[in-house]
Formats: sequence, C-alpha cells, structure tokens
Amino acid sequence: MRIDQIDQGDGRPVVAGAHEKIGRYLATVRRVAAEGDDAAALAIARGELPLIVEVFEDLVAEHRPDAVGHCRACARTGRWWWRQRTPCRAVRRVRAVLLRSPVPG
Ligand SMILES: [Zn+2]
Repeated sequence: MRIDQIDQGDGRPVVAGAHEKIGRYLATVRRVAAEGDDAAALAIARGELPLIVEVFEDLVAEHRPDAVGHCRACARTGRWWWRQRTPCRAVRRVRAVLLRSPVPG
C-alpha cells in the first residue's frame, strides 16, 4: 500500500483535504521511522526523506528576503506594515527544528 492510499479501515479511500492528507502522510513517515523494522525505516529514508528535504528546500527558498530584508512569501499575504523581516517565522521554525537552534523573535 502506498502512503497516499491510506484508508479508514473499511476499504474506502479517505477523501480528505490537503492538510489532513499531509498530516497522515507525515504521521506515517514518523511512525515507520520510529517503530518500523530496519527495512521499513530504510525504505522511508530512501523513498520519502528526499521528498521531505525537497519540500523544505522549496519552503526556505520561497521565504528568501527581498531587497529590503522582508520575506518575499510572507509579504504577499500581509499588509505592507505587517511584513516580516527575515528570517521570518517559517524560516525560524525550520531552523529551530532542523538545526536545533532556536532563534529569538
Ligand atoms: Zn516568510
């Protein structure tokens, strides 16, 4: 069974929104990596980890600073006086988790 074919146990595929599907995918990856046997953990590492890394690379690239130091992605969603300076909240969170380096602010 592919990770994106998870069902509710009754054979019917789950019709879920993007957030729910992503949450299920990540929960499965986390569970298999932590509790799966060595073959399953290796399959997750080789099959899914590169995809997860690619998503993080894309996310960090989207949240690059513009010429005046505001996050390009966050600037599109807020009013000009709410623009976040970089590193923005998204990049600070990624850095804190992946590099175990909390950043104030
Ligand atoms: Zn941002």
